[in-house]
Amino acid sequence: MIKLDDAYDENNIFAKILRGEIPNITLYEDDKTLAFMDIMPQATGHCLVIPKEPAVTFLDLSEDSAAAVMATAKKVAAAVVKAMDAPGFMMAQLNSSAAGQSVPHYHMHILPRHDGLELKFHAREPEDMAVLNDTAEKIRAQL
Ligand code: AMP
Repeated sequence: MIKLDDAYDENNIFAKILRGEIPNITLYEDDKTLAFMDIMPQATGHCLVIPKEPAVTFLDLSEDSAAAVMATAKKVAAAVVKAMDAPGFMMAQLNSSAAGQSVPHYHMHILPRHDGLELKFHAREPEDMAVLNDTAEKIRAQL
């Protein structure tokens, strides 16, 4: 359970990604943020933007990091829309288990949307690595 007043857990999966202890499919990185593919995508092109600052929810994020996440999200969302030829997209972020957050490091979801195409279930079905890498390549080409 992730609660709004939880202390930051240095061993959460995104902290391990930031330390390079587990792999990720990176789309973009700068000194304050990292954008990478979601491995259980709800739509083809679903990716995440995280701050490098340790923060569980939006309330824990400094204004500086929040601004950096939004700047990166803007760049990456534009690339996702072009790469996936998406007429729309969603940006979403969940704060605490009560809201459905499953990883206790702040993250913004970017999800391309197409008319009539329903999203898959949240964090349910791992995508094939070759498909994720191929999609990432298309997004990177638009950055
Ligand atoms: P949330 O439920 O909002 O905390 O979303 C966490 C997201 O992280 C889900 O969409 C998961 O599919 C995704 N996820 C979990 N582990 C990894 C991982 N190792 N690499 C990339 N995405 C992940």
